[in-house]
Amino acid sequence: MSKKDTRTMRVARAYALDDVRVEEAPLPTLQPGDILVRVTVCGVCSSDAMDWYVGRKVPVVLGHEPIGEVREVTAGVEGLAVGDRVFFHHHVPCMECRLCQRGQYTSCRRFRESSLDPGGFAEFVRVPAEIVRLDVLRLPAELSDEAAAFIEPVACSLRAFRKLDIEPGNSMWVIGAGPMGLINIRLARHFGADPIVVSDPVEVRRDYARGAGADVVLDPAAADFAERLLEATGGWGAEKIMVGPGSVAAIEHGLSLAAPGANVLVFTPTPPEATVAYRPHDLYFKEVTISHSYSSGPVETREALSLLASGELQVDDLITHRFGLEGVGEALRLAKTHDEGLRAVVYPHGLGVEVKTI
Ligand SMILES: [Zn+2]
Ligand SMILES: [Zn+2]
Repeated sequence: MSKKDTRTMRVARAYALDDVRVEEAPLPTLQPGDILVRVTVCGVCSSDAMDWYVGRKVPVVLGHEPIGEVREVTAGVEGLAVGDRVFFHHHVPCMECRLCQRGQYTSCRRFRESSLDPGGFAEFVRVPAEIVRLDVLRLPAELSDEAAAFIEPVACSLRAFRKLDIEPGNSMWVIGAGPMGLINIRLARHFGADPIVVSDPVEVRRDYARGAGADVVLDPAAADFAERLLEATGGWGAEKIMVGPGSVAAIEHGLSLAAPGANVLVFTPTPPEATVAYRPHDLYFKEVTISHSYSSGPVETREALSLLASGELQVDDLITHRFGLEGVGEALRLAKTHDEGLRAVVYPHGLGVEVKTI
C-alpha cells in the first residue's frame, strides 16, 4: 500500500453500547509483516455487549470474531496470498515468556496488548505482523464463512473444556443456554459427559437446549430445581459445572450444587467489583475446584477449526440474525438482552436485505 493512502472504509464505532455510529475511517496503513483483510462476516459475542467492558474502551470498533479474505500482503509475510479466506485471531501471546511456556497464553502480557486494527465491525482490518505469524488460519473450502466465524468462540469453549478435564460419564451442568451454552452442550456430548443438565431462566432457551442434546433441562427459578438436579446426578450434584453467565448469582448457584470432587468453571468475566460469597468449609470437605477460563490461544483456534471443518461440531443453526454495519447497534442489543434469538453476525459490506432466519 502506498504511504499516502487516502482510501477510506466504513466502520461501526461504538460511543456507548447504545450509541453505535457508522463512520468513514481511513484504511489502516500496513507495516512490514502485516496483512489487510476484507472482512466477510463477523460474529457478535455477548462479551461485546458487557457494559463495564465497553465502557472502558469507547469509542471503539468492536467485533472480535471476524472472517475475511486477504486483500494485501506486505514484505515478510509467508504462507498467505491475496485471495486466501482466513480466520484471524484478535489477540496473540508472545510464545516465549514464562506464562506462554506453561500454556498460560491468555495471561501473557502481549496477549491483551496485541489487537486488530480497528476491529471486526469494519469493512477492512489490518492484521498486525505478530498475529499474522501466529494465528491466521487459512480456511478449507468446505467450511462456510459463517461457520468459520465460530472458530474464536469455539476455541474459548475448548480452552474451558480442557480445564474441566471431562472423563466419559462425568455428570455436567451447563448454566445458561445462550449461543455459547449451546456450543458447550454439544462439546459436553463430544467429550462424553453424561448426563448433561442445562439450566436457563428463559423458556425459549430451554427449548434450544433440548434441541442441542441436553438430557435434562431445568428452570433455575423452579422451586424443585435442586431436587431435580440431584435426581439427575444420582444424588451427588454435578461433577463438571460450566457457569456461562458472568454473574455472581450463577457462580454461587453452581457452587451450591457441586458434587464432591467437582470442578466449577467460570466461563465469562464478572464486572470488576463483583465478589462471590462461599463457605470454604463446604467446598473443602467436598474438595471442589473453582477454575476460570479466559479467551483462547493459538492451540485452541486450530482445534476449533478442525472440529468445525470436519463437521464434528455443528453451529450453522445458531445464527438467527444477520445485519450490515448499520445493524451493529441492534446486534449488540440482541446480544445483551438474551431473550430473543441466538447469535447475530455482521456483514460489513452489507447484505442487501436484512434477513432473519427465525
Ligand atoms: Zn467472544
Ligand atoms: Zn508470553
